[in-house]
Amino acid sequence: MNFCSQCGEPVALRVPAGDNAPRYVCDACGTVHYQNPNIVVGCIPLWEDRVLLCKRAIEPRAGRWTLPAGFMENGETVQQGAARETLEEANARVAVGELYTLFNLPHINQVFMLFRARLLDLDFGPGSESLEVALLPESQIPWEDLAFPVVEQSLTFYFQDRINGEFPLRMGDILRLQGPERRHEIRMHRPDQEDSVAST
Ligand code: ZN
Repeated sequence: MNFCSQCGEPVALRVPAGDNAPRYVCDACGTVHYQNPNIVVGCIPLWEDRVLLCKRAIEPRAGRWTLPAGFMENGETVQQGAARETLEEANARVAVGELYTLFNLPHINQVFMLFRARLLDLDFGPGSESLEVALLPESQIPWEDLAFPVVEQSLTFYFQDRINGEFPLRMGDILRLQGPERRHEIRMHRPDQEDSVAST
């Protein structure tokens, strides 16, 4: 941020009096511009033993496969946002069910919330942000071509949990490791024990 959205004067990044984190502060009009994480909401759309995936038409990760998800809008609930994103990206109508995965992504200031959802019909197709939409069984999931660690981890949990038919909330942190490979560490929270590192 360079300029104040209230008055147009330059802003400075500093810790305001009584605060504990750096903020963009406008000394001309006194406005403190708080910036907070974005919530990303989406669905795991299901039909019998298949999951609906979208091939991304846009960056980042264009050409890779993802679950329909996007930034929550003002004035909507997380479930409404998840259904809206599924309609926009896959032209698919869903009944949104339980919250299934929640991931903190502190390195990009995002919180991901994915819901299990039931497809209401098979009339779907790519929206403007998708090249292709496909309803895939576990054996056809393009594991090497998934767009994001959140998607890979959520699908991994889903197919594991489907064996027992129980889908407890899976909550964790995805942390970007230092280094040029852009590897991630996934740290899952467990309600019954201390946090543990699930995979890297
Ligand atoms: Zn200002």
